[in-house]
Formats: sequence, structure tokens, C-alpha cells
Amino acid sequence: MKRRQRAAAGLAAACLLAVAMTCAAQMSNLSERYVKLVLAVGVHDADYVDAYYGPPEWRTQAAEQRRGLAELDADATAWLRELADELLSPGAGELERLRHRYLATQIESLRARIKMLRGERLTFDEESRALYDAVAPVHTEQEFQAVLRELDARLPGSGTLLERYQAFRDRFEIPKDRLDAVFAAAIEGCRARTLEHIALPPTESFTIEYVTGKTWSGYNWYQGNYKSLIQINTDLPIYIDRAIDLACHEGYPGHHVYNVLLEQHLVSERGWQEFTVYPLFSPQSLIAEGTANYGIKVAFPDAERRRFEREVLFPAAGLSTAGVDEYYDVMELVDKLSYAGNEAARRYRDGKIDSSAAAKWIETYALYAPERAAQRVRFIDQYGAYVINYNLGKDLVASYIERHAGADPERRWSEFAKLISSPRLPSGLKE
Ligand SMILES: [Zn+2]
Repeated sequence: MKRRQRAAAGLAAACLLAVAMTCAAQMSNLSERYVKLVLAVGVHDADYVDAYYGPPEWRTQAAEQRRGLAELDADATAWLRELADELLSPGAGELERLRHRYLATQIESLRARIKMLRGERLTFDEESRALYDAVAPVHTEQEFQAVLRELDARLPGSGTLLERYQAFRDRFEIPKDRLDAVFAAAIEGCRARTLEHIALPPTESFTIEYVTGKTWSGYNWYQGNYKSLIQINTDLPIYIDRAIDLACHEGYPGHHVYNVLLEQHLVSERGWQEFTVYPLFSPQSLIAEGTANYGIKVAFPDAERRRFEREVLFPAAGLSTAGVDEYYDVMELVDKLSYAGNEAARRYRDGKIDSSAAAKWIETYALYAPERAAQRVRFIDQYGAYVINYNLGKDLVASYIERHAGADPERRWSEFAKLISSPRLPSGLKE
């Protein structure tokens, strides 16, 4: 290479480097403003900020400033324009591209939440599309009735189907004084299986609390520094099958692991501050709930789950394993009714039925006991279209993972770990 060519090449490399540095600086500026926008919306909406572990003074500042919603919306619009102008650095990889699109969609969702907080009414489907980047399919009563008929045949005896199902299920309730022992064993089982496949920072841990008076059955409050607080609601009976569900969903490889991996790989290693805040009403929640629910199956494929429950959890709960196979068959059928909850929520939020009709719908088609149906309606009052994140989220994650990994359990783990360490969106799962 001649000297002049060499100099030109050197200059081009320097330019590329300069562009990359500007891009990084600009992205870090946008990232900081994203966090501050989410915190500012959180001042108007107590449920909005699910987790935050960035600088504490940013949160104090947001509370002190109490910026108006119109101003925040204008800010978010300007932010989106700047992101659109922001070119990806030369040599940007898949993760950077995902990050761009993720941030834009998260802020669009924040703008929709602002609209709702300003009193604009969205239909259930508009809300789920705007906040969660997905719309739940419509299911008819006839579809649920077909499942109910199957259950009816499986649970003979007198009384309504709901009463017979309840009586059958009561045999599998975890006694209150055994709850902690059962959860400890379930979490240990979930954690051991997860650690065989996903490397976690050695300092990760969580604490468990038993609470009452909540609209949900379990909650993970991520604290940062690889720590979580997991709360289990004991208002209503907890059945043996819920131990693995909750331990995997809230803990391993669910919410706790999801948050730990984002903190480790995106915040600590890359300095992507936007992940220090988690806006609850956002597309991130569909990924979080969907992976937390699908993670149960990744950690415990059916046969393994049954074996572990029979050998470890039933004894810990002091329950007899008589009729356990029948129990799983029944629960599998009941699981097919999960979309009935979305249908009730859609009708209720769209003003087609009132709260007692919504509760009745959930009792009839999702087979919830009356107190549990009432709790579910309170959940819908508090969280709206959020309900789709659990079942639609699980289905979208399942088809994404199974498309990429097939039935191979090892590959399922690796695709799962990749998914929960990267900024994915619900619409991106379909590609
Ligand atoms: Zn969850």
C-alpha cells in the first residue's frame, strides 16, 4: 500500500472509531433519559416501576420534580425522533440492533401508558397492542365448553362441576404449616436444574416472604445486585402443583434469573443503563411473564416434574400420592381454560359486562372458585390487559424456543438463556 493510501485508510478507521464513540455517547444519553422518563411516569402510576436499581437520586429527583404528563409525552416524542436519527455504530451486532428496536417500542408503550393516565380509554385489544406489543386471540364459549365436558366426565359425583373439581383439588392443598418447607424444596429443585445449564453470578440470591391482601399469587421484586425479594400470597389455598410453578416462575429460571442475567450481561458488562429500570406496563412484561411460565417446562419436562413432585414435594407437604396421575390429567385439561380469563377481561374492560358478571364468567369457563374469581377481577382492575402476558406470553415464547431448538432439552436451555439475556420484543418472537 502506498503511503497516501495508508494514511487515508488510517483516517477512515479513526473516523469510524469517532462515529462509534459518538454513537455510544449518544446511546448512553438516550438510555439515561429513558430511565428518567420511566421514573417520571412512575410518579403518576404507583404500579408502573416494577424494579429500579440505578442511581437512587434519579428516583428522588423524579418525585421532587413531578413533571406533568403532557410534558413527559412531548419529551418521549422528542426522544423517539432522536433515536430514529441515531445510526447504529459501524459493526453493530444483533444485540445492538435489538436494543434500538426494543427501546423505541418500550417508549411507544410508555406514551400509550401516559395516554391512559390522562384518561383516554382504550379497548382491551388496543391496550394490549399499545402496552405489550401483542394481541390475544379470541376464543369462544364453545371451545371452553368442550374442555368442560371432558372434565365433567373425569370428575363424576354430585354437585356442580366446579364443586366436584374443588373437592377433588382440596386433596392436594399444601397445609399452611408446610408451605415454607415445600417452597424451599421446590426452589432448590428449580435452582439446581437451572445452574446445570445457566451460569449465574455467585452472589445471586433472594429472600422469600409470605404476604396477604394482594391481587396476585406471587411476585418477584428485583432489587439489583443480583438479589430478589419473592412474595407469596397466602390469602387463598395453595395446591401442590403451584409449588413448582411459583418457584420456577418467580425464581429459577423465571423472573429472578431473567433480571439477574439482564443486570449481568447488559447493565454490568455493556453499561446499558436502560435495564436498571423495569416498566411493568410495557412489552418487557410479556417477555418476562412468558419466559417465567415457559421456563417451568424447560426446567421440568413433564415426566421429570411428576417424578420430582411425587418423590420430593408430596412428602414435604405430607400429602398422599394416591390419585396423583389423575390429578395431573385434570390439571392439564384445566390449563386449556386459561384463555377464558382473557375473554372475561376483554369483555369487562370493554364495558360489555360488569365486575360480578366477569367473576361469574371466570368461575364458569376458567373453573375458578368464587373467592379466586373475585381476586382475579381485582387483578384485572389493577393491571388491565396485563393478563395476556401470562398465557399468550407463554405460547409465544414456547413457539419461539421450539422453532429454534426443536425438542432437544439442551438446546431449549441454551435458546432460553439467550432469550432472557437479550432485549427481545413480543413482535420479534414471531420472526
Ligand atoms: Zn410473573
